Amino acid sequence: MTKKPIGWNGKSLIEMLEESEKLFEETKYYYGLDRLSLKEQDPFNYERCYASLRGAIVSARETALHVAASPIVKEIGELCFGLYTPEGDSIVVSTGILVHIHTMSEGVKFMIRENYEEDVGINPGDIFLNNDPECGNVHTTDVQTLIPLFWEDELIGWAGGVTHQIDTGGITPGHDLISAVQRFDDGVYYTCRKIGSNDKIWKDHLINARRSVRTPMYWELDEKCRLAGNLMIRDAVHDFIKREGIDYYKKFVREAIEEGRRILIERVKERLIPGRYRAASFMDVAMKNEAWQPIAKIDKISNQPLEIIVKENGGFSLSFEGASGPGPNCMNCAKGAMEGGQWVLLTQILIYGDKVNDGAYFAVEKEYPPGTWANPGDPYLSYQAPWGNLIPAYTGMMKCISYGLFSRGYREEVVPGYGFTGDAIQGGGIYSSGPLEGQRWSLSTFEISGQGLGASAVKDGLDHGYAMWNPESDLGDVETWELFQGGIPYLARKMKPNNAGHGKYRGGANYAGIAMIAYSRGVEFFGARDGLCFHGTGGMHGGYPNPTGYRLYAKNTNMQELIQNRKEYPLGDPDPSNGEFERLLTGDITRKPNCSTFPITLDDYDVVHYALSGGPGYGDPLERKLESIRKDLNDEIYTKDFVYNIYGTVATYDKNKEEWTIDEKASEERRESIKRERMEKSMTFEEFWEYERKKITEDKLYEAVKRMYSESIKFSTKYWAKEFREFWKLPEDFEMEVK
Ligand code: MN
Repeated sequence: MTKKPIGWNGKSLIEMLEESEKLFEETKYYYGLDRLSLKEQDPFNYERCYASLRGAIVSARETALHVAASPIVKEIGELCFGLYTPEGDSIVVSTGILVHIHTMSEGVKFMIRENYEEDVGINPGDIFLNNDPECGNVHTTDVQTLIPLFWEDELIGWAGGVTHQIDTGGITPGHDLISAVQRFDDGVYYTCRKIGSNDKIWKDHLINARRSVRTPMYWELDEKCRLAGNLMIRDAVHDFIKREGIDYYKKFVREAIEEGRRILIERVKERLIPGRYRAASFMDVAMKNEAWQPIAKIDKISNQPLEIIVKENGGFSLSFEGASGPGPNCMNCAKGAMEGGQWVLLTQILIYGDKVNDGAYFAVEKEYPPGTWANPGDPYLSYQAPWGNLIPAYTGMMKCISYGLFSRGYREEVVPGYGFTGDAIQGGGIYSSGPLEGQRWSLSTFEISGQGLGASAVKDGLDHGYAMWNPESDLGDVETWELFQGGIPYLARKMKPNNAGHGKYRGGANYAGIAMIAYSRGVEFFGARDGLCFHGTGGMHGGYPNPTGYRLYAKNTNMQELIQNRKEYPLGDPDPSNGEFERLLTGDITRKPNCSTFPITLDDYDVVHYALSGGPGYGDPLERKLESIRKDLNDEIYTKDFVYNIYGTVATYDKNKEEWTIDEKASEERRESIKRERMEKSMTFEEFWEYERKKITEDKLYEAVKRMYSESIKFSTKYWAKEFREFWKLPEDFEMEVK
């Protein structure tokens, strides 16, 4: 090395990282710390120090987003900040979209392992940009700014901030592009690139960035927002060191992470029962009839089997052994994204409260099998919407942990899953008339962060208020979304009946909206969500999964005429069998059972419907209280036919009182009759096993299912394939082949 190393005690950053990994490997304590000596010596000062850094980082976020930020960031706080050790481990985090805290850690580690210290250079005032999922990110749409923090001539850590962009210049406008099938479709890539020095973003970077995305103003605002937040964190760290001394700081950051690790272990011991927990979840990736690109015309289902092992000593391991393969689609998920997802859910379910940092990451052993959708290791695949796999896959973790919580008696903490935070509607266009003629607009409604949460074992799920990736989820104001997606104003937003997963306690309910294209021609429109199979692991203890998404839109409509004549137009799709679109609109109406839609072209007065996701239910719907069902009917959460068929409840609407009444006696009879029907129609396990097994042995599986199992068998090296063969009593060398 030609320059003096920037690490501690004359070490280089690579040496520091290797030492950290070695100490952890040998001792299982973070940095080998078997004692929290600062905490032991003066717990008050230790806690005050942690709180001061936490406060500084939360306030950096709040300030930065009001200084400069795109509407998507400003409105619902789609950003987060973190403070990291020199090796890239998070110490203290802000509020916000916390899924990205650990991903930034991987970004820093990438730079260290690639020896940026020597070649590239890491100096005070440098600014690095990263949005490459193969080195610690979720998708290119999430953009990280990382700055090194120095004290005198030593690197004492990193500050990092992430925002979610409205557009990153991919194959079509938008932020989760379904038509991206390889890296070259994903938009602009910054693979841990230096973009500035002396606290200033370089002009050549800005010129390039402005030309690389469709919404350059928002891109630039967000770059300033992330840098401003990082600089505020740097000031706070310098103040801390002036107050407490550099030696205290160095010890403190390691202890805080080790404490975070211990907190998770304690929670695991307290809340879960040792054993093997398993869950199965799936996601449809139906591209055969949708994709433009010949290589992408494949129907797939992702297999997302999850195993969690809880040990008596609080050990917690997680494995996706048996995951199916990646593919020419946007839903491939790099390891960093999987780790981010794991971290953000653990911090919500098990370490809510104090010392949320990478300690929780270190406390968990994980296995993301190489070569699968969960860790493809191929930078040329598309990583534009890994959420398509990540979101359903981690319902399995919620489910597994919920079994543990239930068994320990924490029934109120049970949560079997969540609604799919899929993009209801996406795309963008250029105004073809009106005052904004010639300007681009992008469709990026972040209403998606308000989904239904699963029911607990004691109450209904939260309605339209949850996103797995952002514990502070907020669906925002329509007026804000219309600011940048003005080419598609909203006509309506209403509760969507029958959207909540059924159960003794129902899943969170949700709403749907209607929007219309305005002042624009040739709009590229698309969307992606579950559709052909339930995303996630479904309900728990007899509860149902939430319904899947579907697509509804109308082209060449009479909307102009309806508006001019002040006539009724669709405000929703409460009853698809008697649709408002079909009743009120003329034109070409499309209903598709699978929600995911490759880009189509829409023009002025075309109308689209979108439905957000409900959450899964808990317990047998026949045990739901009649009074709760009456309330559901009055709140338009369920309709009469659904409560009759699923909840065994006979209800009538009183037009005078404008409310529902329940016939208790008739309902009791109806419930008894459903129970008899269940007995008559159901199969024994043996019958079911024979019936399903024949599909495998007689080659009757639907092509996408067969492809999924064939990939899982191929990639499984530990237990999944073996157990699959054993369970179905198949030959030891059994494999599946898809032509
Ligand atoms: Mn994102």
